[in-house]
Amino acid sequence: MNAQFQAKRETSDYQAADAAHHIHAFLDQKALNAEGPRVIVGGERLHLWDNDGKRYLDGMSGLWCTNLGYGRKDLAAAATQQLEQLPYYNMFFHTTHPAVVELSELLFSLLPGHYSHAIYTNSGSEANEVLIRTVRRFWQIQGKPEKKIMIGRWNGYHGSTLGATALGGMKFMHEMGGMLPDIAHIDEPYFFANGGDLTPAEFGLRAARQLEEKILELGADKVAAFVAEPFQGAGGMIFPPESYWPEIQRICRKYDVLLCADEVIGGFGRTGEWFAHEYFGFEPDTLSIAKGLTSGYIPMGGLILSKRMAEALVEQGGVFAHGLTYSGHPVAAAVAIANLKALRDEGVVAQVKNDTGPYLQQCLREVFGNHPLVGDIQGTGFVAALQLAEDKATRKRFANENDIAWRCRTIGFEEGLIIRSTLGRMIMAPALVATRAEIDELVGKTRIAVDRTAQELG
Ligand code: PLP
Repeated sequence: MNAQFQAKRETSDYQAADAAHHIHAFLDQKALNAEGPRVIVGGERLHLWDNDGKRYLDGMSGLWCTNLGYGRKDLAAAATQQLEQLPYYNMFFHTTHPAVVELSELLFSLLPGHYSHAIYTNSGSEANEVLIRTVRRFWQIQGKPEKKIMIGRWNGYHGSTLGATALGGMKFMHEMGGMLPDIAHIDEPYFFANGGDLTPAEFGLRAARQLEEKILELGADKVAAFVAEPFQGAGGMIFPPESYWPEIQRICRKYDVLLCADEVIGGFGRTGEWFAHEYFGFEPDTLSIAKGLTSGYIPMGGLILSKRMAEALVEQGGVFAHGLTYSGHPVAAAVAIANLKALRDEGVVAQVKNDTGPYLQQCLREVFGNHPLVGDIQGTGFVAALQLAEDKATRKRFANENDIAWRCRTIGFEEGLIIRSTLGRMIMAPALVATRAEIDELVGKTRIAVDRTAQELG
């Protein structure tokens, strides 16, 4: 165990206190309490240590967020310095502060030129809450207040607050009190599952045209925006065929429907481009950001607006009755600046594009291209998914694919590997700083987990 991370209390002691007081995310709390959560005490680059000294390779960058990996002293120093100088001030009383001003300058120097303004939040969910209100306000300013329906996608994920849940397409979340009026959904563009006899290009067009059908069904004068992740993440890591996004953009432009990209996991280098929509080659009107903005070291998110939208809000909108106590928080802004400078100046994003990203993708295809348990491999840069399948040729999925993938993930933990399982897919999204040696460790351990899962299936 790394000497720096010596346990202070017994693991069972932490677990008992946690069980007594803490409700965790997306878990059966009673089952978790019986099992006891892992107690993670430290991290360095791609590795984490638990309270008992076990070392894990984190193949998920925490929750798709620690883009620079763990243990960056420069980010800690940026936070400390800002905490000492100005730990807090707000954006309500006709004020601003250097940290948020400088963050905006830096952020917009990295973004394509047609974006001009940001509304800062504390998380991705909040970014999408702000999105709903900002989009509706935009159409009010345009004299079209009836344009307020937001269209999302089934199995899309935009967060777990009320608006973000409704916008997302997780039915089990909707059923737990998470739906709102004026929200609609279309299907996810998952070729492996739904492509049938079509080519990927044909399927991409067909999936995109569902948006046109939905707009016509609801009435273009009522539809405000289409919201989607450039590649779907939490809903099972789906990369749409190349034909998909250009067609979606054409449809949005035709019916004057705003195109809103949720870049919460795709942003800040994950695909090898700064933003995932750049990888797919389309031009959204808004970007929801969070996670990689600060490499997860401190909470921060935001909504990026195109010049068209910002101009309407600023020049014609008057007061926008909206604001958050911690919007543009100086300490978060200082960490974001240090993080973005490191991603840029250390050439991290460029390296994912030109070297380590292609290397990861090539290794996965070499190792799993003919694996009997793997039906498909998707991804680019530092995000990838292995679709577990009964028969690759016919794209037949296991009836109990969730259980199998969950088992594979559990074996991964036993082997000191953290990867995610969703809807029969094993997902990885390592820190962008991973070296070739760390990628070899990730792929090697994943191989062991998938092999052991296959052996158990017999
Ligand atoms: N949007 C996407 C695409 C996400 O994957 C997530 C979280 O995983 C969110 C939004 C919500 O972000 P947060 O958990 O910071 O609220």
